[in-house]
Amino acid sequence: MAAAPMTDRQTLLELVTALRARLEWCRDTGAEVDAMAVDGRSAAPAAAATDDDSVPLNAAPRKTPMDGSVAGAGRPTAAVPPVATSAGAPVETLDLLVSPAVRAASDLPQLRAAIGDCTRCKLAPHRTNLVFGVGNPAAELVFVGEAPGRDEDLRGEPFVGRAGQLLTEIITKGMKLRREDVYIANIIKCRPPQNRNPEPDEIASCEPFLVRQLALIRPKAIVALGTFAAQTLLKTRTPITRLRGAWTDYHGIPLMPTFHPAYLLRNPAEKRVVWEDIQQVMRALGLPR
Ligand code: SF4
Repeated sequence: MAAAPMTDRQTLLELVTALRARLEWCRDTGAEVDAMAVDGRSAAPAAAATDDDSVPLNAAPRKTPMDGSVAGAGRPTAAVPPVATSAGAPVETLDLLVSPAVRAASDLPQLRAAIGDCTRCKLAPHRTNLVFGVGNPAAELVFVGEAPGRDEDLRGEPFVGRAGQLLTEIITKGMKLRREDVYIANIIKCRPPQNRNPEPDEIASCEPFLVRQLALIRPKAIVALGTFAAQTLLKTRTPITRLRGAWTDYHGIPLMPTFHPAYLLRNPAEKRVVWEDIQQVMRALGLPR
């Protein structure tokens, strides 16, 4: 059966996504922008082809690991991040389709208001509540998960189901913080039907909101929870089993990938390695253990 023709909006979204990837890569590598090279198939830099594990999702993989050396991605460096100097680097969305109000938002309430009853992607009709994020707007630490589940969709708050309870225990019992001390958000703000994985067009539509949230919060560290969050933020397909436990970089913000709490509910033996990852985060933030 012939594929359904793309709508103008889908085409435009793909072009914007490719342009964003190209601009990020040029910014990271210092290369000059080549307008003629901006298309969905040629936007990835040649260097990416040397990384067997890192196939770009919808953008080029990041090039600057935490120790500042040039590397072709793969397993990120395990160096302790220079939190004091690199944290809070501005992260700006380059999505030209994001409304001016979203780009102009100067705090999280303004951003939430600008997002409104978003219908940028096909998840909108399925949601009960748009799950924006919760926590300290000036948090030093942001947890990023995948997408709302049933409980989160009903409550309008991320990580409130069983997996959320486990995350709360990690924050309160493990890190000795309050849940309201950190910020918690997802890559995708609306629940995918039957909790299926978010699709590329949905990510392209929604990720700019998270990018803007992170730019406003300016955290000192990010913890990416699970395969989807880590691979989406880092633009890689490297398995979470290889990503976890090693610092990497998200637009100048140290990022620690680790397993998702839902995975820990199914595999409680892995709590030990997650605790090791969290202890690295605590060390980097200067939190007492
Ligand atoms: S998932 Fe994101 S882009 Fe899609 S409708 Fe919800 S808020 Fe909008």
